[in-house]
Amino acid sequence: MKKTFDALDRALPHIQDLHAYVPGEQPQGEGWVKLNTNENPYAPSPKVADAIAAQLADLRKYPEPISAKLRAAIGQRFGLKQANVIIGNGSDNILDLITRCFASAPGAGHTVPSYSLYPVVAGMSGQGLLDVNFDRSMQLDVDAMAATQAKVFFLTNPNAPTGVAFPLSQIEAALQAIDGLLVVDEAYVDFGGESAVTLLKDYENLVVVRTFSKSYGLAGMRVGFAMAAAPIIGILDRVRDAYNLDRVAQAAALAAFEDVDYFEVQRQKVMATRDATRAQLDAYGWFTYPSATNFLFTEPKNAAGESSAEVAADLFEHLKSQRVLVRYFPSHPLTCAFIRVSIGTDAEMKAFLTAVESWPNHA
Ligand code: PMP
Repeated sequence: MKKTFDALDRALPHIQDLHAYVPGEQPQGEGWVKLNTNENPYAPSPKVADAIAAQLADLRKYPEPISAKLRAAIGQRFGLKQANVIIGNGSDNILDLITRCFASAPGAGHTVPSYSLYPVVAGMSGQGLLDVNFDRSMQLDVDAMAATQAKVFFLTNPNAPTGVAFPLSQIEAALQAIDGLLVVDEAYVDFGGESAVTLLKDYENLVVVRTFSKSYGLAGMRVGFAMAAAPIIGILDRVRDAYNLDRVAQAAALAAFEDVDYFEVQRQKVMATRDATRAQLDAYGWFTYPSATNFLFTEPKNAAGESSAEVAADLFEHLKSQRVLVRYFPSHPLTCAFIRVSIGTDAEMKAFLTAVESWPNHA
């Protein structure tokens, strides 16, 4: 006898309403200039390959469960103890752990626009989502953050998708104002932001989240980390998957982290390319937010000098027809007239600018 099962009806109520995170497109086929998901254009440190190779003989064995070496190395670098660090399967994993452990009613707060995973992790936990809207000036409204009464507030610093960095004085003001945890998501901080790590000694309600996906060129490896007071890390460890990081990822991240010279050279290259690209966009007369990240958020103008959602969408489609992929966020009034362009190699940015200049609506 056959049996039916209505999966949607049987799913937990909050899962029935959940919309999955939509990652940036990963185009198939050759020849794309891929500037849409803020990956590093450069390969990770050459030492990563050796570290991975050394793990192959041991793949039959489980990994070390807590990524202890990586925790210790990160702790030492930032003047913290191993007990102040947790490693995640990407920082997405950590954002989810924090929400599951701490975002009780009324839920998790975030600024709009910011990283579109926060609503998803709040939804996965069945918790409310509390919005604090930016206006075009991109000033942080600390009072509005506090007024949400969020038990966890996600603050992306530098912000994504605009690239704007908030000074530490404002992060400290937010830490004082809000009652819940302030999660400062520093995915892009290595490209010019000011880290909140120094505030950990004074604020027990701070969690600093970082990733190896951007500045270390390891997006494909899935490694992120968080730094916080030891009791917070202890709680997150209760819900972490027992083996949340495989042995290859642990070894690769450690090798990348320890190759400080390589890291510094690549980071400087990305920032120099960013600033040179920005100068070109300025020369077009486009408004671009100041960026402390590895991307630029820019508002294109057509030949008549107009900016609008239609203009941005038209440029986005033209670039795609030239196999240059950038990111377009049509659904919010603050983002719909902009495109976000990740910083690639100098050659990739030249290809991007050439494609812009071949846009029929370009001035
Ligand atoms: N935070 C922000 C602001 C991001 O843009 C991203 C990547 N898109 C992440 C966190 C997640 O990074 P990962 O899971 O690759 O560590």
